[in-house]
Amino acid sequence: MSPSNYPPLDRPPPTDSPEVQQWIKEVQESGVEIPGFSPTVAGGCPANPDAVADSSRCWWTCGGCTRESDVTTCPDKLNWGLTYDDGPAPYTPDLLNYLDQVNLKATFFVVGSRVISYPALLQQEYLKGHQIAVHTWSHYSLTTLSTEEIIAEFGWSKKVIKDVLGVTPTVMRPPFGDIESVFFLLARWVDRTDGQLHSATVCVPSARP
Ligand SMILES: [Zn+2]
Repeated sequence: MSPSNYPPLDRPPPTDSPEVQQWIKEVQESGVEIPGFSPTVAGGCPANPDAVADSSRCWWTCGGCTRESDVTTCPDKLNWGLTYDDGPAPYTPDLLNYLDQVNLKATFFVVGSRVISYPALLQQEYLKGHQIAVHTWSHYSLTTLSTEEIIAEFGWSKKVIKDVLGVTPTVMRPPFGDIESVFFLLARWVDRTDGQLHSATVCVPSARP
């Protein structure tokens, strides 16, 4: 794969590319109504009182709002999932060896732009039977991005994973757990196989997102 065919590492992709313009058009034509929330500003909950007060945003970060499709609790104390965020990275092979030794399967929430750096590692994760999921393209707080920028984050993450593995993921985790309603509506466009992309934010005995 050629990195020059993809946006730069660890930065929100530009929205004026032909790819993103096409994805924006697909969202507009999908029939899913996307509310026009303005992005939040740096400083978290105290800096964004209007966004916190708006229950229609369902801003998980400030108030813990969740939806039915969220995986938020473990069924019981012995029934849980093992997950890792933010890779692939240079230490991924060590982790894969360890998981083989202890015979465990995990979910890897991968950063799209880092898949460009380590496509073979992503293939190893998948071929060993682990689940591959989306952790956005650039690892920014999604509520600070515009709708178009979130479409770009999703679109490129979906594309690079499909390009490398031939399959499209159906689970995502927002960086820093920062998530609100608009994200879920956009997710319906991202994953058309079952109508929505599910999120896993809480039931995770893992490293922090
Ligand atoms: Zn993360």
